Amino acid sequence: MKNKKTVSFSKNSTNIFFHILTNCNLSCSHCYINKEQHGKNTLPLKTINSWLDAFAGKKNSANVIFLGGEPTLHPDLFRAVKHARKKEYKSITIDTNGYLFNGILSKIGPDEVDYISFSLDGATISTNDMIRGKGSYDKCLSGIKKAVSKGFSTSLIYTASSTNIHELGLMAPLLGKLGIERFFIQVIGIRGKTAKRGSLKEEPCSLQVSRKKWLDTIPEIAEKVAELGITVTYPKVYLDTDEKFECAGLVADNYFIFPNGRVYRCPLCEDYPLNSMEFKGSRLINTKKINELDLFGLSVPEGCVMNRLIQPGNLSYNQDGIPEYKIACCLLKEEIAGI
Ligand code: SF4
Ligand code: SF4
Repeated sequence: MKNKKTVSFSKNSTNIFFHILTNCNLSCSHCYINKEQHGKNTLPLKTINSWLDAFAGKKNSANVIFLGGEPTLHPDLFRAVKHARKKEYKSITIDTNGYLFNGILSKIGPDEVDYISFSLDGATISTNDMIRGKGSYDKCLSGIKKAVSKGFSTSLIYTASSTNIHELGLMAPLLGKLGIERFFIQVIGIRGKTAKRGSLKEEPCSLQVSRKKWLDTIPEIAEKVAELGITVTYPKVYLDTDEKFECAGLVADNYFIFPNGRVYRCPLCEDYPLNSMEFKGSRLINTKKINELDLFGLSVPEGCVMNRLIQPGNLSYNQDGIPEYKIACCLLKEEIAGI
């Protein structure tokens, strides 16, 4: 496909995934937030702004994604968005479950934020609400309609697991009807609540989608959605043994910030105190060894070393014990431009 490309990690931009609080009104069954590791506090505006300032001066212009928990529960989110704009962040995104608290859409304008990104995990009420909680489907759809009617650009994130992959094909007509501009398919990570479900064993976690199912399903559906003019992004996940493996922790500039001050370079490390940086007041400092940086350089035939350590159920070996494929960095994406 001409409009399909692998989005290798951008070496010219910095991405800030900024969790400004961990509190949330929902309790999704696959939530990756781990309050023991990420803190329970809501960051004061002054701290949010000073942490934004720490990245604003970098030579690579930065993109910021405001996350939670549910970031719209933060009464000062709109002020943080305006601060990021003032500091010339290249793009600003708010990830939301759709409840849009604190009148956020009337406190910022479509020219102040690049995307409002909604999370929906089923094309039907029953599947979505089984995962995300009763009433969340209707709330999300009404939030999208409100945002689109006010002129905001919207995207939608679908976290694919064995419980909802059967409905992914039904998303295309729904996305078209809603006026969504970008569609992100994510793979379920064995983190947060999912990790606590006893999936740290060698067997595949019951929520993980098999390699065959993933390869048979995702690219085809992504193409169908792209035909509606919607740009689709999904993780590459699997690499052939002769494909080049790269760890984003070594070659890209991503920062996953949590309200307790921890700053990770790799999302798969977030369940552990392996963060390589932390904020002390408004200063960003490096942490002592051993941390995630010590893992990134380890070369294993299975590809991503963190995947090998924490979610090996998606690996497969031949009879000589050689991996049949590699697992790509979770940050390596395929993108199909809307046509
Ligand atoms: S909306 Fe997000 S933060 Fe809230 S419970 Fe669901 S996955 Fe977790
Ligand atoms: S997911 Fe794996 S490959 Fe990607 S940054 Fe983390 S350790 Fe590196």
